[in-house]
Amino acid sequence: MPEKPYQDLNSYFRSLFGGRVHKVTVDAGLNCPNRDGTISTGGCIYCNARGSGTGAHAQGLSIRQQIERGRERIARRFKTDRVMAYFQSFTNTYAPLDHLKALYAEALSVDGVVGLAIGTRPDCVTPEVLDLLASHARRFLIWVEYGLQSAHDHTLALINRGHDLACFERAVAATQGRNIKICAHVILGLPGETRQEMLETADIIAGMGIDGVKLHLLYVVHGTALASLYREGRYHCLEQEEYADLVCAFIERLPPSMVIQRLTGDPHPNELVAPTWSLEKRKTLEMILARFRERDTWQGKYFIPE
Ligand code: SF4
Repeated sequence: MPEKPYQDLNSYFRSLFGGRVHKVTVDAGLNCPNRDGTISTGGCIYCNARGSGTGAHAQGLSIRQQIERGRERIARRFKTDRVMAYFQSFTNTYAPLDHLKALYAEALSVDGVVGLAIGTRPDCVTPEVLDLLASHARRFLIWVEYGLQSAHDHTLALINRGHDLACFERAVAATQGRNIKICAHVILGLPGETRQEMLETADIIAGMGIDGVKLHLLYVVHGTALASLYREGRYHCLEQEEYADLVCAFIERLPPSMVIQRLTGDPHPNELVAPTWSLEKRKTLEMILARFRERDTWQGKYFIPE
């Protein structure tokens, strides 16, 4: 186990590449079937029109330009120019295969890029897309990041995800065996979910042979269905201490090999409705580490291998 009580992304990259690697966020200008009317037009109840996007594509920046700018920033700050191109905005396998081919190839052609991280939905991967990614996995590190958010179908319906757990399981099974790393995104604090249900999500993904997880706090942003629920008093945010404790309890159920890529989200201050503490990222991370110490726990403490 590295210095932290969990396997963080920096330690993972150091073990693979012998030094620092950072992610550069890429906005490829793609859409999402849960917003364009294919599944629904409303999207997930917490998603606003930006869809976690940076807006770089709308500003006319090519993939190459976005990565080069990000790489320069990282080189100044961290003294490394090795980066992973992280296709984050909307659904990054949701386009014709030739278009995806060109996008991924452009990213991988930029100096210093050691791999791709592709954020997508579990209902948006085809064998052809996975073959394409697997072809790059011979020379580069390739991660696919599937949004799951919760392993409970009643929650997935309530938040209008437009897919169920079985869909996620199929996507994971189709991805495994292709030398592609799999990360699951999970949100803590979804409406109607009990602590027990959130921890059941940990147990379910712990048994799936997944390589990494990103944990997010559910926060409320303007222009979303969740903001209406919040204003009507029908949704209550987690408290900071509660979140820190939940994160520890979640991680102690995961296998020690899983890379914990994120411990919380990064709300845009101008878009945030609640909770205001979600802007205190450093404090939240410190509270999580303190909670690990107080609970005398670590990643994998309660993981039971099958
Ligand atoms: S899948 Fe992602 S981009 Fe699409 S509506 Fe949900 S959160 Fe937004």
